[in-house]
Formats: sequence, C-alpha cells, structure tokens
Amino acid sequence: MKGYAMLRIGRAGWIEKKDPVPGPHDAICAPIALAPCSSDIHTVYEGGVGERHNMILGHEAVGEVVEVGSAVRDIRVGDRVIIPAITPDWSSTAAQDGFPMHSGVALGGWKFSNTKDGVFAEYIHVNDADANLAVLPGEISPETAVMLSDMATTGLHGAELAQITPGDSVVVIGIGPVGLMSVAGAVILGAGRLFAVGSRPRCIEVAEEFGATDIVNYREGDIVNQVLEATRGERVDRVVVAGGDLGTFQQAFDILKPGGKVGNVNYLGEGDYITISRESSLVGMGHKQLIGGLTPGGRRRMERMANLVLAGRIHPERMITHRFEGLEAVERGVELMRTKPRDLIKPVIVV
Ligand code: NDP
Ligand code: ZN
Repeated sequence: MKGYAMLRIGRAGWIEKKDPVPGPHDAICAPIALAPCSSDIHTVYEGGVGERHNMILGHEAVGEVVEVGSAVRDIRVGDRVIIPAITPDWSSTAAQDGFPMHSGVALGGWKFSNTKDGVFAEYIHVNDADANLAVLPGEISPETAVMLSDMATTGLHGAELAQITPGDSVVVIGIGPVGLMSVAGAVILGAGRLFAVGSRPRCIEVAEEFGATDIVNYREGDIVNQVLEATRGERVDRVVVAGGDLGTFQQAFDILKPGGKVGNVNYLGEGDYITISRESSLVGMGHKQLIGGLTPGGRRRMERMANLVLAGRIHPERMITHRFEGLEAVERGVELMRTKPRDLIKPVIVV
C-alpha cells in the first residue's frame, strides 16, 4: 500500500509498504476522512519523539472496516467507524490504573504515527478493535467525525486536566483547533469568565462562537498584563495550555490564583526545561498545580464525543477551513499544518 510517511527527522514523503494483517483482536480499515495534526509537525520537523524512519504519518481518521480478526465480536466488515488517535491496549495494567493512554509504556496508547504506521495510507491497522473503534452515527458526517478522533477529545481533556468547576474564571492559551475545543470543553464544564489567547482572526471568531467571553491577542502585549488589566488585578482559577512554548508555563502560573490549576495538552516538541519562578510558585507554597496529559482514546471516549455532537453541545465542523479530496491531498494538508497560514484552522481530506 501507499502511505505518506516521515522518512527521517525533517523529511516527509510517499512510500510503499506491505498491506497490514490483522491479529485476532484487530481490524483493518480503509480511510474515508483524514486530518493532519500539529503533532505530526512536531514529530517530523522538530523530532519531538526522536528519530523515525519510513513511518507512515497521521492519527486522525474515520474509516470503513474492510477486515476483522477472528476474535473481534462487535465491529463488522462494512462498518463506518471513528478511529481514535489513541488506541490503548485495554488489558494493560496502566488501563487498570485509569491511564489507558500510557498502556504498555509511557504514552503507549499513542501508536499511530509514533510507534507504528499512522493513518495516511490506503489501509489502517487498528489494535483491540472492539475496544477502540466507535461506529459512526449516521447523523454525523465523516468530516465532522474526524474532528472527534483527536481535536475534540484533546481539547476537552485540557479542560478536564485543569479540573474546571462551575463558575471558574479560565484562560485558554492557544486557540488552534485543540484550544478551540478546550474553549468548548471549558464551557461544558461550567467556566464563568473565559479568556481565549490567540491571534489568527478566524480562530478568534470561532473562539467567540464556542463561548469565549474575552479575547487576548498575545502578539499585542504580555498575556499576564492583559488578563490582569481586564480583571482589575484578580487572578484566575484555571488555565488550559494548548499552544505556546516552554515559557508559557511561567505565564500560566503568573495569572493563577493560589490553589489554581493548569491543564496542559500542548506537545512540547522543542527545548529542555519548564521553569516556574519561585515567586509565582508563592515560595513553593501556593497550592498551584500543573498537570499535562495525552488525550484519552478508545471506543467509549469516541462514543462520548459523538454524543456531544448529537446533542448539539460541540460544533467541531466549524473549525474546518480547508477541504481536499483524495489520499494524495494529505501532503497538502501536512504542508498547511506546517506553514499555518493565517486563515487556517483545520484541513480535512475526504478520501
Ligand atoms: P495550532 O498551532 O493550530 O495552535 C496553537 C495556538 O497557540 C494558536 O492559537 C497560536 O496563536 C497560539 N500560540 C502560539 N504561540 C503562542 C505564544 N507564544 N503564546 C500564546 N499563544 C501562542 O495547534 P493545534 O491547536 O493544532 O495543537 C495544539 C497543540 O496540541 C500542539 O502542540 C499539538 O501537537 C498538541 N496536541 C496534543 C495532544 C494531546 O493528546 N495532548 C493531541 C493533539 C494535539 P496564533 O493564532 O498566532 O497561531
Ligand atoms: Zn494529533
């Protein structure tokens, strides 16, 4: 089969690979809709998880099941399915501990375009098919559903990690597709005043549609000053980090009240250390927390994301700014995610 792959750090291109074969619990899918992710860019162009040779990229997909293993019970050939970015081994001890995304090894649920071939190919191998694939409800289009495989679950996870409770004042730093879904997630968890930090005009428009009450343009001045000015000096309860760099955590701690929490979903592809000043830690006694997490995946999580769409509570399709057809177009999609033109939020490829 043909696939668009990371050839080595800094280079991507088309390669040929053997068609995947399912084990007893696995399924093989053919892609229906695909989307490239900023994480693919961190992986290829920053070498965020280290060197990889000829590894097919991509982890956001909706597909049609074309083959199942002998022990697969629920999923059938012909089903249209949401393929989550994170496909844990559900019998692992990490899953039993409540962290399936770290099954096997740390980050071990993240297999596509990390430890095995990803979804930008003619065929996609899915482990643990009954536990990982969610049948696509007929009311949801494949383009919308491909936004659930990673963007919706990750954005919502940022809000979950920050442990937002009703009425909390919240700052979401970064409003690309992930951060926009964090804005939506913060609303679902009950955020009160909700600051969205970004600069692309299209992202700002969608952030407002998703429920941001205040916009902060980080290019027009320090985030901390802008937020404190808007609140007359009062700090906030929660911060979700979905963009920025290692320096962003200092800003997050500077805006945070004692007892506040920072949830991070940004993939830190570059740099070495996160530093937090002694002062903003309140001399180490501020009860401030930073929790970073890989998104949950698997079937139930995808079914829950689909329920949010069906109930009209999230509108991930509003983030789609570019549409392409045919597998070959993933190359253009990846290039868009690398260059991030000002009018881009998220491209989708219908295969
Ligand atoms: P984007 O690049 O589209 O968005 C990044 C956002 O951060 C933009 O709003 C950008 O602003 C803003 N930003 C950039 N620099 C700064 C800065 N210095 N200060 C404040 N804001 C800044 O990324 P995505 O939404 O696609 O992805 C976000 C992150 O989530 C990526 O690192 C991705 O790899 C990661 N990710 C993590 C997952 C997980 O499981 N934890 C899963 C999927 C993705 P501007 O408007 O100027 O562009
Ligand atoms: Zn991703």
